[in-house]
Amino acid sequence: MVTDEAGTRMVPEASSPTMSESLLPFERLLSKVSADLVLASPATVQHGIHEGLRRLAEFFDVDRSVLYEHSPDRRGLLERASYTRPGIPTNPADARSDSHLPWSSERMLRGEIVRFDSPAELPPEAVREWAQAGLSGLQSYLAVPVLLQGGHHHHLVLASFRRKRAWTDDAVPRLLLLGEMLAGAFERARIEQELRESEQRYREVFELTSDCIFLLDVTPDMRFIVARFNPAEERTVGLSACEGRPLEELLPEEVACKVAANFRRCVEAGHRISYEEAIALPVGLRYFHTTLIPVKDAAGRIHRIVGIAHHITERVEAEQATHLLADASRALAESLDYPTTLARITRIAVPLLADWCVVDILENGELRRLAGAHVEPSKEALLQLLAERYPVTGNSQQPAGRVLRTQQAILCTHATDDMLWKYTHDADHMNLIRALGCHSFMSLPLVVRDRVLGTVTFVSCRPGRHYGAVDLSRAQDLASRMALAIDNARLYREAQESIRMRDDFLSIASHELRTPITSLGLAVQSLLGPRREPTREDLLRVLRLVRQQSRRLTRLVEEILTFSRIQGGHMELHRERLDLVSEVREIIELLEVELARAGCAVELDAAAPVIGRWDAVKLDEVVTNLLTNALKFGARRPVTIALEAVEGTARMSVTDRGIGIAPDRIPHIFERFERAVSSSHYGGLGLGLYIVRELVEAHGGSVRAESRVGAGSSFIVELPLEPPEPTR
Ligand code: ADP
Repeated sequence: MVTDEAGTRMVPEASSPTMSESLLPFERLLSKVSADLVLASPATVQHGIHEGLRRLAEFFDVDRSVLYEHSPDRRGLLERASYTRPGIPTNPADARSDSHLPWSSERMLRGEIVRFDSPAELPPEAVREWAQAGLSGLQSYLAVPVLLQGGHHHHLVLASFRRKRAWTDDAVPRLLLLGEMLAGAFERARIEQELRESEQRYREVFELTSDCIFLLDVTPDMRFIVARFNPAEERTVGLSACEGRPLEELLPEEVACKVAANFRRCVEAGHRISYEEAIALPVGLRYFHTTLIPVKDAAGRIHRIVGIAHHITERVEAEQATHLLADASRALAESLDYPTTLARITRIAVPLLADWCVVDILENGELRRLAGAHVEPSKEALLQLLAERYPVTGNSQQPAGRVLRTQQAILCTHATDDMLWKYTHDADHMNLIRALGCHSFMSLPLVVRDRVLGTVTFVSCRPGRHYGAVDLSRAQDLASRMALAIDNARLYREAQESIRMRDDFLSIASHELRTPITSLGLAVQSLLGPRREPTREDLLRVLRLVRQQSRRLTRLVEEILTFSRIQGGHMELHRERLDLVSEVREIIELLEVELARAGCAVELDAAAPVIGRWDAVKLDEVVTNLLTNALKFGARRPVTIALEAVEGTARMSVTDRGIGIAPDRIPHIFERFERAVSSSHYGGLGLGLYIVRELVEAHGGSVRAESRVGAGSSFIVELPLEPPEPTR
């Protein structure tokens, strides 16, 4: 065994040394340690350091070798790697730090060499300290400070427990050399680890963020090539494999131009710019808050742009929906006029929710298309054409027709040609829709108080705007506001009509009531006149007039009373067994004077009695009304009343040969206050036929009119002989 001047064990030299064996022992140690560290990967570098410490301990023939790092605050020592020979007890407290040994650690932290060859060289407090730490077996100790570039302080420590060591002077520089090697490897490993962690953090931010982050290469001719983009971009914008491709290859020309204009603006400005933009992407219309940061190369040219596009579609759309609803509510509340409201309704949704919109309103059981609004005013003529050529009916296959039948909304996200064929009638219809444009549409029922008032159809023809569930729910909000506005306008119109009718009725009624009273007044006045005493003939004439006018007054008042009873729902039937033929005969007799005055002969055509159970008073009213109308409008020509019983039904027709009724008025004459003649020519309240219909229907029967202008009219009443079975 040979020992060198450092007192370390020497390996006996071989007879024919190899290259490394021919080196001096310390140089061999250095080359082995350095080979271990050079070959170590980031994952094995710690092992390389440990191997280095082992070789060091063996070379210096000590029991323990440790690499300490000074803590960043320079107040403690942190064990970074150590080797302890097998069989040597280690103090657990010693495992990570020597800070619990103030005597040595204070010196080390001051950057000093701590060295003793035997415990005898230690001051008493150090001996106590080491003994307390369970290190009483420590014989020799050498700790050498290692200062690396960048201000990292380390100590490389050798400790011998089994025997005393007399450290030679060159042990310190040798340890310094090895210490730099080991601590350097440790620092490099740490830097690599930090780099890896920072790269990982950067990657996480880049890959997981919901914002789009992109790097663009700016070519000298101001084109933009995508250098990097994060996966969020793929998800949000629906583009993939963008890297290395120019912008115009990735987006449709129009969209690429718009986007590139902002990139160019950033290069020209030479500083960061931020803005909000809407881009029609393959996945639909998306809104972004974008920040662009120009990056200069060494020559000062902007060669790159870093972009961060924060996705704000949801926020923008929510804001737009709120504005849309607020605007809609305001616009619809501005007017109660029905036509104005209908005209406004289609405009509200364009362009915020739709590029064109049509509304179909149910009126008298039929859909009426309101020519809608189009984002391009020049296309509104096409909408008019669509309304005229393809009106929607209840069984139409157009969206509005289907919605009306099912009362369910239709959402069509991608309106393909195949799909549009299903909703159109023929090639012309299809061409019209294509000319208007249709990428996506929604059709919804307009519902208020559980009643469907019509339908509304929103259509998008903008590339990238495809309706989805969110749009449908917004459309539903808008549709319910539209329905409410239509309902309000309709109720208002009805209320106005009722008021007008009531006013008309009041003026007609007062006129009708005043006429007999005036006639009575004049007759009485003629008797009281100063000229001469009234003769018996005068008295009789006046009395007949009083009887006639008081009957007329009674009938008018009866009519008004019956009407108000019907309106108030207070009408009751008192059925009794009657012969309709004798009832009619009695009425003709009662009206004898009036018939004579009207110059109408009344012919009763009844082969046999017509017996049934009816309310006598109400039946009288029906017959009297029809007969007095026949007298009034009968042009002094004969009137025929025909009566018969056929299969459990009494059939009565009152036929005159008078002025007749215009065909378009016939459906209305049974309505309240409806009249087909001028009130200045013919008196009447416009209630007679309404009362007839109500009374006949109360008996379970029906009434209709047949007429030709100038040829006369026939009113046909059908009454069940017996009351209908009550429905349960
Ligand atoms: P009124 O007779 O008080 O006007 P009605 O309700 O009885 O009211 O009749 C409504 C309208 O129907 C009349 O104003 C008249 O225009 C038309 N009408 C009714 N009966 C006849 C008839 N026999 N011939 C022609 N028109 C008639």
